Amino acid sequence: MKKILTTCEFCGCGCNFYLGAEDDKVVAVYPCTSHPVSQGKVCIKGWMGHEYIHSPERLKTPLIRQGDKFSEASWNEAYKLIADKLRQIKKQYGSDSIAVFASAKCTNEENYLLQKFTRAVIGTNNVDHCARLCHSSTVIGLSQTFGSGAMTNSIPEIGNADVIFVIGSNTSEQHPLVANYIVKAVRRGARLIIADPRQIQLTKLATIHLSHRVGTDVALINGILNVIIAENLVDKEFVSSRTEGFEELKQGVAGFTPQKASQITGVPTEKIIEAARIYATGKSSSIIYAMGITQHTTGVDNVMSCANLAMLTGNVGKESTGVNPLRGQNNVQGACDMGALPNVFPGYQAVTNNELRQKFEKAWGVELPSQPGITVTGAMNRMIDGDLKALYIMGENPMISDPDMNHTEKALKRLEFLVVQDIFLTETARLANVVLPGVSFAEKDGTFTSTERKVQRVRKAIEPIGQSKPDWKIITELSSYLGYKMDYSSPSEVMNEIAKLTLSYSGISYNRLESGGLSWPCPSPDHPGTPYLHKEKFTRAGGRGKFFAIPYRPPAELPDDDYPFTLTTGRVGFHWHTATMTRKDWAMDREYPRGFVEINPQDAARIGVRNGAMVKVTSRRGDISLQAKVVDTIQEGLVFIPFHFAEAAANKLTPANLDPVAKIPEYKVCAVKLEKG
Ligand code: SF4
Repeated sequence: MKKILTTCEFCGCGCNFYLGAEDDKVVAVYPCTSHPVSQGKVCIKGWMGHEYIHSPERLKTPLIRQGDKFSEASWNEAYKLIADKLRQIKKQYGSDSIAVFASAKCTNEENYLLQKFTRAVIGTNNVDHCARLCHSSTVIGLSQTFGSGAMTNSIPEIGNADVIFVIGSNTSEQHPLVANYIVKAVRRGARLIIADPRQIQLTKLATIHLSHRVGTDVALINGILNVIIAENLVDKEFVSSRTEGFEELKQGVAGFTPQKASQITGVPTEKIIEAARIYATGKSSSIIYAMGITQHTTGVDNVMSCANLAMLTGNVGKESTGVNPLRGQNNVQGACDMGALPNVFPGYQAVTNNELRQKFEKAWGVELPSQPGITVTGAMNRMIDGDLKALYIMGENPMISDPDMNHTEKALKRLEFLVVQDIFLTETARLANVVLPGVSFAEKDGTFTSTERKVQRVRKAIEPIGQSKPDWKIITELSSYLGYKMDYSSPSEVMNEIAKLTLSYSGISYNRLESGGLSWPCPSPDHPGTPYLHKEKFTRAGGRGKFFAIPYRPPAELPDDDYPFTLTTGRVGFHWHTATMTRKDWAMDREYPRGFVEINPQDAARIGVRNGAMVKVTSRRGDISLQAKVVDTIQEGLVFIPFHFAEAAANKLTPANLDPVAKIPEYKVCAVKLEKG
């Protein structure tokens, strides 16, 4: 048996383990004791979640649509058809009538190549990916306040924090190895504040639980800021020497007494005061958040509020402190770093900046577009309007992951041409004109960048299944069919090009990664990488962090007489996103074979359903039927549905209400009604 050290393909924790391969099959997983995050541990997905690699449902050849059916095709036939069709659409409607969705599941090198393909070959900046749906508000909110839209500190530092404030993150379910460090810190004596409308597993360890109403995060944090200022708990030295905008913030939160915050959030006044005192008096206080903060129409405001709190108390730029967004997908940080976004090249270099654009034009040998492109969420509307004619999707499944599923389906069906590159015939791939078989992480080389900004190697353990090809190879070959040569003999050569064009990755090479991951910024070959950011100055222009006074805005769709419940969506620890991989695995499927809706016992009694009974959940956009899970860990009036299950798709219900800046949908708040199913 071969044992190959690699990086997990599920969440952003970036655990390393060895894949055991025998007769070209992945047959085992062995822990890696020397990895700084995993330290010999992995979660259930890391242990058991690889059965999908050899699923009989894997795509093995390219498919071309013939009427209602697909026919198997050769790679040449598929490439030729795609190239001809994209060329014709570009000629007839212009480059901006084509869009590309990159993938947070694919490697850095693949995302780099796909954004290069979009910009240099298609001639548009219409490239985006699922970060739009999970952490686009982080990228914008933390860039504006700190200068870098990423986790400020490393995961192991969490274990040494004195206070940990977890808001909008069900950490033990979604980032189990990060939760390990929280548990470690609590065992050491750290105080834990949990702000969440549901009682999550970590609540059992919490010093205090703030069960606020969904969508009231800004009000909650403003109340905490108000207490910290009123009780003179501000780190004055840090605020005066390292930040700007304090007076504006002070005025902004002056009216946000804990009493007012309590009225809006439903959290008792004394708990808000206690949380403020605990957080502000910690020697090193760390904020951890995930999509409970970001997936709101106030996503950017929520993120900036977290940044306000950290700066006000001097909890940034030091070990075991900071603002730590937990990125969902294995490589969502990397896909953003690689410029799979409509407004920036790799390394967040603006497409509108002439000097930077010229740098890429020189390197890639073509003229590049200067106008920012469209987002994933904007693309759906452009399809409905008929302006967007063709879409190329690599490794994403918007039919299940995007809000308002009926709207998504209508949009995708209006396209003249849809190409999907994936490992399974997903709900989205079924609508495609051409389907190209990519490979899993076990069948290719590359790198992923974890949530703590750590670039790590992914190593090939087995040969591609059937005729499938590594995604980087598919992009380069297709590019040749469109007349633009991409000559790379391996992903390592692609990384060398990334390093030349991206300062924060300049010191990164496959040679260096052989001895372990490197956290960006890593600006030179002898730089050791950066475990925590903003040490002496913020990366923001001018070097200072900036406070923003954030007014409270309620969620876009509140319950009313017709739809009296609030739905919030999320995930469970045994499945991954649209479950295309985990539902192929017996162990995961056994634990959660079907969707469910969590309901408070009082609400269940009111509508007359028992635990396990079927419930029909209806919103203004559609309805689904699924099993009731009656639990007292959820607030009255609130229901929770995981979005993994296509046959009970939570996103049939969710609205496409967007944050005005980040364009992230408000998956966390949606008005619904419940009936016996
Ligand atoms: Fe993989 Fe995340 Fe589990 Fe680690 S915690 S094994 S990275 S899914």
